[in-house]
Amino acid sequence: MFSNLLNRFGRTISFRLNFWYASIFIVSACALFVFLYLLLAVAIERKDREVVEAKLKEYSTFYEAGGVPSLRGRINTSRDSQQEKPFFVRWISPLKSVVLLSAPPDWLTFDPRIVDVGGYAVHPFYLRIPKDEERDLVLASSQLYDGSWLQVGRSTNSREAVLQPFRRIFFAVMTPIVVLGFIGGAFLAHRAMQPVRQVVSTARSIIDTGKLDARVPVRQSDDELDELARLFNRMLDKNQALIKGMRESLDNVAHDLRTPLTRLRGTAEAALRAQPGAEGAHEALADCVEESDRVLTILQTLMDVAEAEAGAMKLALARVDFCSLLREVIELYQYVAEEKKITVTTDFSEPCEGSVDPIRMRQVFANLLDNAIKYTGEGGTVTVQVRRENSHLVVRFRDTGMGIPAEEQERIWDRLYRGDKSRSQRGLGLGLSLVRAIVHAHQGRVQVVSQPDQGSEFMVFIPVNDSAGKPA
Ligand code: ADP
Repeated sequence: MFSNLLNRFGRTISFRLNFWYASIFIVSACALFVFLYLLLAVAIERKDREVVEAKLKEYSTFYEAGGVPSLRGRINTSRDSQQEKPFFVRWISPLKSVVLLSAPPDWLTFDPRIVDVGGYAVHPFYLRIPKDEERDLVLASSQLYDGSWLQVGRSTNSREAVLQPFRRIFFAVMTPIVVLGFIGGAFLAHRAMQPVRQVVSTARSIIDTGKLDARVPVRQSDDELDELARLFNRMLDKNQALIKGMRESLDNVAHDLRTPLTRLRGTAEAALRAQPGAEGAHEALADCVEESDRVLTILQTLMDVAEAEAGAMKLALARVDFCSLLREVIELYQYVAEEKKITVTTDFSEPCEGSVDPIRMRQVFANLLDNAIKYTGEGGTVTVQVRRENSHLVVRFRDTGMGIPAEEQERIWDRLYRGDKSRSQRGLGLGLSLVRAIVHAHQGRVQVVSQPDQGSEFMVFIPVNDSAGKPA
């Protein structure tokens, strides 16, 4: 149980951050101590060496001035003055016999044979001989002008006297440093991981409760984790909007299919109950076919829109004269327009040829003209215009109808969206989404300009170049 907990905790980023932070902190502190320790040790060594070498130089001068008697005299004076700690002094003749030896009591255990005076050293050489736990013997030797050897030494505890308290301080200081390292590491890791924990808890609350409106608090610190929280929130906003859109679409599809299907069922049921003659049965079947067509149209249009929006719509591109295509479509709607006493005028600047899928483009124009007539009151006017503008063919459908409120203009392109005021009219709310999807599949774009109660202008921009037709 405990080991499981430890295992789990050990795998958390907080723990690893803490571990690394504390380790780096402690190793840096150790490295600093070691560096200072070595620096101190070198300084002490240099000082000991300087003292002994200075003495060696002094005695060499005396020897050079008056030989062994002068050297002995100087040693005695130094010892008697008792101003400084007595030195170990040994003079070895060129024949390698020790002629003069003055050894203070702490040098008595020293075995001089361990110092090789082979005679090859030209410069003074220096030795540190560890004596016991507290003291070292430092010794400098030098060959004199006549081939004899002079050795001067001294016992010193300066090294231990300084370094031992230093080591003690090191261990005394290291304990709080380790504790501080881990506490500081834990605190920093906890703070650093706070935004990540908030992302996790937000995600968990969405998964657990299914409520999509939970968001990660943003700290306004503009660092990477803040950016992560912001992006995460944006992703949640988008997902929420998409899910809402899908729910609405599903509701609308269910709603829009329910009416024709109920009608279909009603017609069939009524026909069955009344047991009509052949003519009545024929009429009922014709109604059924009409309603089924309506259902099929809804489904087909939904699939077309989905296909085009996913970039999977296959286009059979051909050189098409937009003017004749538009004339065909206008002719088709002539009857409906006349019924509403709407004048449809054209303003074509020929030639206006483009490379498009004629069947799909006819759907686009038919939908836009159908809307223009549908949403324009009796006696209104609809103008269809084609122009070549730079690298685009621009087709405009202008009407004097009811117009579209500004807040609806963005949404009219959404699947199954129907304007508030348009519900009295027939329609599925799929026409404009299909228009936009087909135009996008042709690498074009659509635009609307509208004023409520004054009219609308829908514009279709189709590029007149060879790239048209590649999926958007
Ligand atoms: P439908 O016409 O079946 O409702 P559409 O996708 O063709 O669906 O249009 C979506 C909405 O855009 C319509 O419900 C209507 O509110 C608005 N609309 C489209 N064309 C026009 C137009 N010419 N004038 C006014 N409103 C329009």
